[in-house]
Amino acid sequence: MALEKTLILVKPDGAKRQLTGMVFDRLEAAGLDLCAAKVVSVSEEHAREHYKDLSDKPFFENLIKYIRGEFHSIRNNKILAAVFQGEDAIKHVRKVAGATNPEEADPGTIRGSFGRITTDGQFENVIHASGNREDADREIKLWFKAEEII
Ligand code: UDP
Ligand code: MG
Repeated sequence: MALEKTLILVKPDGAKRQLTGMVFDRLEAAGLDLCAAKVVSVSEEHAREHYKDLSDKPFFENLIKYIRGEFHSIRNNKILAAVFQGEDAIKHVRKVAGATNPEEADPGTIRGSFGRITTDGQFENVIHASGNREDADREIKLWFKAEEII
């Protein structure tokens, strides 16, 4: 076990459907400790940098539109970003979030409870959660300044 930090984003479907409180509630109830949070206007460049490892995937262009709120008429491309800390926080948050595909996610998870697949095949799955230690470090640096993490 190791004390870790991980990045989460409440994705635009989560914001639109008023699930922000539920996301924080479930993470807090799981024992994770909130140590940074803010609303960010996500530029095209920022979105592409965040998801750069997926740039060759067929769903990439729609994913950029999705995370910038273009499918949910989110004004100013705003999104809520947060850092949670805890023992094995990266895996722990992923477990609370559930599998990437909402149809495969356990019903008790955030994605299993509230995610959906659109008719175009895009996974709208409410929450982003860093996948591993390397991604978490990179993503936390991309979204937060050191002094914003308490
Ligand atoms: N995604 C999608 N279709 C796929 C795979 C991924 O729409 O077949 C979207 C989905 O919103 C997912 C995001 O792309 O959360 C990032 O994909 P990744 O494989 O990193 O999944 P995650 O780490 O979010 O579980
Ligand atoms: Mg990922």
